[in-house]
Amino acid sequence: MADEKIYDCIIIGAGPGGLQAAIYLGRYNKNVLLIDRGGGRTQHAKHIENFLTQKAISGREIIELGLEQAKSFNVKIEKGLVTKVLKKRHFEIYAGEKKYLSKFVIVSSGVYDNLPSIENLHKFLGISLFTCIDCDGYRTTNKKLVIIGNHIKSVHLAIAMKEMFTKDITLVLYTNKVPDDYKEELSDENIPLIIGRPVRIIGDETMKALELQDGRIIPCEVIMSHFGYKLNDSFLSELNLKKDRDNFKHIVSSTYESSLSGLYIVGPLNQGNDQVIIAAGEGAVAAIAIKKRLLEL
Ligand SMILES: Cc1cc2nc3c(=O)[nH]c(=O)nc-3n(C[C@H](O)[C@H](O)[C@H](O)COP(=O)(O)OP(=O)(O)OC[C@H]3O[C@@H](n4cnc5c(N)ncnc54)[C@H](O)[C@@H]3O)c2cc1C
Repeated sequence: MADEKIYDCIIIGAGPGGLQAAIYLGRYNKNVLLIDRGGGRTQHAKHIENFLTQKAISGREIIELGLEQAKSFNVKIEKGLVTKVLKKRHFEIYAGEKKYLSKFVIVSSGVYDNLPSIENLHKFLGISLFTCIDCDGYRTTNKKLVIIGNHIKSVHLAIAMKEMFTKDITLVLYTNKVPDDYKEELSDENIPLIIGRPVRIIGDETMKALELQDGRIIPCEVIMSHFGYKLNDSFLSELNLKKDRDNFKHIVSSTYESSLSGLYIVGPLNQGNDQVIIAAGEGAVAAIAIKKRLLEL
């Protein structure tokens, strides 16, 4: 089913990046369609405390307010899962049975966390189980912290967390491939290292401890899970966009345009930091650049 209209811009993903871009383009009186599948990572952020003017706000509230604001500037919002984007004369965006055409595209589909399989993990996610030092490091201040990870990079995280937030840290690694100098560094910092596999978080209202497969119990008030994330970008695969050396993040210009003219990528899909205010700022920059390009057209 084809929507024959040619939109000025189609935005994929109603996270902070996509919504901020939608608000700018809506206020330029452009024909904008925002397609979102629902859910999304920002919705897991229960206490955002680092967004200017908001002492504390949930990610869900930010998205709900952003959707209302975008709608008030006549942005069309459709629920749908984008499965493919092609570039012919115009961009072709496929979502379910539908095909949409657009002069420009902003991709703001975000990332999803690699989370280990641990009983009760989702109960505490965003409350006392965190995934990002910039977002929630502060919330571990002076608390009994366990860091879990599957890579020696978690050693650096443990040392950084100790430097900034709490002295009471235990590092639990799934891998025993830890070089001796890393072990020495941890020992110098008084950070116990445990090699093991967590299976359950113990606690009803508040977190009490982490249980390992071998029965060991590690008391804790907060957990930092350090397993990285994957990008929500499979729908871009036919465009052969340029990525970084690790073939992971998308390379973009200073206006967040990808290696394909007219397609912009904002938020943690590019090499920038993964923060609400940064994704929103990038969305604004991309929208302003697209406004200029539309004027040139
Ligand atoms: C537990 C937790 C706590 C956090 N706390 C903070 C914090 O305190 N401060 C802070 O600044 N940041 C925080 N973050 C990070 C913040 O959520 C991200 O920076 C932000 O999500 C990035 O915004 P985004 O625009 O990429 O959108 P996202 O929120 O990732 O949204 C992307 C949207 O795209 C949609 N989508 C994905 N694929 C498709 C598709 N194929 N078709 C259609 N739609 C699609 C998704 O459904 C989603 O709605 C936290 C994250 C987590 C997980």
